[in-house]
Amino acid sequence: MLNEAFAAAGAAAWGGLPFSELAEDMPPAAIVKVEELCPSPRTVLVAAFPYYAGERPGNLSLYARGRDYHQVVTGRLNTICNFLKEKYQNGAFLPAADNSPLPERQAAWRCGIGLRGKNGLVILPPYGSYVFLGTILTDVEVDLPSRTPSAHCVGCGKCLIACPGGALEEAGVDLDRCLSELTQRKGELTADQGALLKNHPLIWGCDTCQQVCPYNAAPALSPLPEFREGLVDALEGADLEGLTNRTFRERYGDRAFAWRGPAPLRRNLEARGE
Ligand code: SF4
Ligand code: SF4
Repeated sequence: MLNEAFAAAGAAAWGGLPFSELAEDMPPAAIVKVEELCPSPRTVLVAAFPYYAGERPGNLSLYARGRDYHQVVTGRLNTICNFLKEKYQNGAFLPAADNSPLPERQAAWRCGIGLRGKNGLVILPPYGSYVFLGTILTDVEVDLPSRTPSAHCVGCGKCLIACPGGALEEAGVDLDRCLSELTQRKGELTADQGALLKNHPLIWGCDTCQQVCPYNAAPALSPLPEFREGLVDALEGADLEGLTNRTFRERYGDRAFAWRGPAPLRRNLEARGE
């Protein structure tokens, strides 16, 4: 039955595992935060939602062009929470997308969702790594399907070679050199970081370690309208001119690039001389 519920919610894959197992991947502080949200955490469900909308010119990362995935994925997971509440009437079910202390990628890999990319991403053929992850945390012991942990990607190393900041290493990502992180950072950047921005084609995010990955050579399009329709592919200086934080949020508040306000976007445009 959960299979049908996740499919109806638009998930391309899902799985679940005991929280005690996922806790092995978590620092103590994150476990404390989880227990603040859910005092007796038992099960974590995790699902993947595709977002690829095709090759389109623009200067925003592909993940940020559609509706804000935090809102979309959480809303879609809420339909599953409602389904679970009928089955487990005394349970608490907490949906989240990229905004909870749970390590979503580790949860996905432990459940066998997709492959473990060397770029640190979940790769889910035929959607490639263009998937958002979301979780449901609950104090119920949910009946779970069997699982086999994810295999590794082919390990071609193209992502490591292509990374413009040299941020990708076998051990993980150095956020001080990762353009996905730097384009979102507030305030002053170092001269080296500014030079990276100057040569970067995007003013929000970075898709390079995804675009070079062979699993992303011809990804399947997302079936979800929130990520396929009404896209904002690019922002120019004129789009931001005269906007205050409030009017910026009124115009773009349903987009994932809006949470920092207009300042980092203006700075990033200026770094490129635009
Ligand atoms: S997002 Fe860009 S800068 Fe960050 S690790 Fe990937 S290729 Fe490197
Ligand atoms: S580019 Fe190669 S090494 Fe990197 S994630 Fe893709 S398959 Fe793995």
